[in-house]
Amino acid sequence: MNKDIKNDWRLTNQETYLMGINLCYHKYKQPSEKWNHDHCEFCMKTFMEDYKEMDNCTNTGYSSLDNYYWICEECFEDFKDLFKWVVTKE
Ligand SMILES: [Zn+2]
Repeated sequence: MNKDIKNDWRLTNQETYLMGINLCYHKYKQPSEKWNHDHCEFCMKTFMEDYKEMDNCTNTGYSSLDNYYWICEECFEDFKDLFKWVVTKE
């Protein structure tokens, strides 16, 4: 783990709501017709069901079990030790 990870620019007090929570790795599913995307809680990467090859966009990642918070694969790898997430199977 990177020693400076606690000073990473992506950290903005997410520990107040993401510490130790259960996460599920799966494809992004848009919550409604109008709400068609979400952002990574750390780096703001865009999650979209209708995934197009574009910068900073993905269609798969880790979400809280209620699908409310999304975390991209890269941020998951960087912060999993710090946040002690538990990954549950789908
Ligand atoms: Zn991210």
